[in-house]
Amino acid sequence: METIRFEELGIEPKILRGITDMGFEEATPIQSKAIKVILEGKDIVGQAQTGTGKTAAFGIPMLQNIDPKSKALQAIVLCPTRELAIQVAEEIRKLAKFLHGIKVLPIYGGQEISKQIRSLKAGTQLVIGTPGRVMDHMRRKTVKFDKVKMIALDEADEMLNMGFRDDIETILKQIPEERQTILFSATMPKAIMDITKKYQTNAEIVKVVRKELTVPNIEQYYYEVRPKNKKEVLSRLLDIYDPKLSVVFCNTKRMVDELVSDLQGRGYFAEGLHGDLKQSQRDRVMNGFRNGKTEILVATDVAARGIDVDDVDAVFNYDLPQDDEYYVHRIGRTGRAGRVGRAFTFVVGKEVYKLRDIQRYCKTKIKAQPIPSLNDVQATRVEKIFDQVSDVIANEELDSYIRMIDDKVNEEDYTSIDIAAALMKIMLGNNESGQDGREQDYDFDHTGAEEGMVRLFINIGKKQNVRPGDILGAIAGESGMPGKLVGTIDMFDKYTFVEVPREFAKEVLQAMSDAKIKGKTINIEPANQK
Ligand code: ADP
Ligand code: MG
Repeated sequence: METIRFEELGIEPKILRGITDMGFEEATPIQSKAIKVILEGKDIVGQAQTGTGKTAAFGIPMLQNIDPKSKALQAIVLCPTRELAIQVAEEIRKLAKFLHGIKVLPIYGGQEISKQIRSLKAGTQLVIGTPGRVMDHMRRKTVKFDKVKMIALDEADEMLNMGFRDDIETILKQIPEERQTILFSATMPKAIMDITKKYQTNAEIVKVVRKELTVPNIEQYYYEVRPKNKKEVLSRLLDIYDPKLSVVFCNTKRMVDELVSDLQGRGYFAEGLHGDLKQSQRDRVMNGFRNGKTEILVATDVAARGIDVDDVDAVFNYDLPQDDEYYVHRIGRTGRAGRVGRAFTFVVGKEVYKLRDIQRYCKTKIKAQPIPSLNDVQATRVEKIFDQVSDVIANEELDSYIRMIDDKVNEEDYTSIDIAAALMKIMLGNNESGQDGREQDYDFDHTGAEEGMVRLFINIGKKQNVRPGDILGAIAGESGMPGKLVGTIDMFDKYTFVEVPREFAKEVLQAMSDAKIKGKTINIEPANQK
């Protein structure tokens, strides 16, 4: 299927301006097919995978069919989560940038209802909401459905999975029958077809067929692993490829929780996302991921569905997806907007056959890779150190340092290579020797601390009822370093980061290694910037 220029779709000029302003060059396949059908006023069932531009596919024709002269509510979009309602509203508002007199309002639980009521009263023509909250307004009679002529169910399969079926049906029954009903879904289970039969009229089915599920720009690898080694392999890959943002997919909520605490324990900035989280927790996690505070998002398929973050560098299939189609949905999180992405898949035993099916279905090649050894991890670190070295040689004044080395070479029977080698060993830190001793060489150069400080990781946090004062007290008490020299203390649920001046860092680490905080034995180590 060829894509089409938006100009050929009968879209009005003001909306076309909005589309251009958003930087869209051509319509995606689902948009090419669906926009025309919806503009003709027909009911539609649209199916295409995540990230294919379904929002604009229904948003554009909905905007075009709204009469800006009437202040009545004319169109409703139902979305499964608050997160998505906000995202869809933002996208539609951008599309409507040059349209005057159209008000678009997201409504969702958790937001002050009185504020929503005020906005609704002020004349909103398009509401985007979660089924629960829309029902709420319906019961309070703060939304009037009598002038509604279009309703879109976005991520319909997801809404059914989340138990919104009754709410959706109740809403649909309240909306005038001569309406246009638009339904979008990534998958088409029977429950969706039931809704279609019951609430749509002669719906046209518009699919972007499977062979168009292309996965461009994504390097795909798989690793044959044993279940008990997965965590270790994951952390090696994270160290080697060093992605800024990555999403790790697990098949169960329990695995998400387990993996998050393991990764946090290893010093990574990881957070989990799954269906058991409250909306406020989801929001916190997603915000952290968007602004880069959380670098690794560990998620189930359902929780990650529809979430749109553009610059994910790598996707990990920690568990092989249960459905072939999910593979495409998952790895489609990366390699967006022309960037190169990477997808890493772990397979255990016979799963390698399932992987073959996935490759056939996606018409894609997933290359086998050996599990990186610790030496590989070290090689990457060496490479990074050499990059830094080149940079320093090119850009910094080294005379006084050269003199130091010269003096040492003259004084002792060393060559400058001996000295460089020893410094490299020190830089590489405690991987090889001193694992158990007190004399380990810590890596203080990659802790992500402020200049002159070292960031330390302690495996105890708010959940253990520890407060910043306890950490400060313990450090000052154990090491003898004045408490006022302690820098930033960042507390999380299960761990804490604290910065101390570099010259005290080693002492603090050694003094604290046997210490207890609030009666609990702790583990303390230099933070890993990654
Ligand atoms: P879906 O609902 O199918 O998962 P979205 O509507 O969330 O997909 O769109 C995914 C991303 O693609 C968004 O950032 C959106 O702005 C962008 N997008 C949509 N249509 C186009 C297009 N025609 N060209 C380029 N980017 C687009
Ligand atoms: Mg969507």
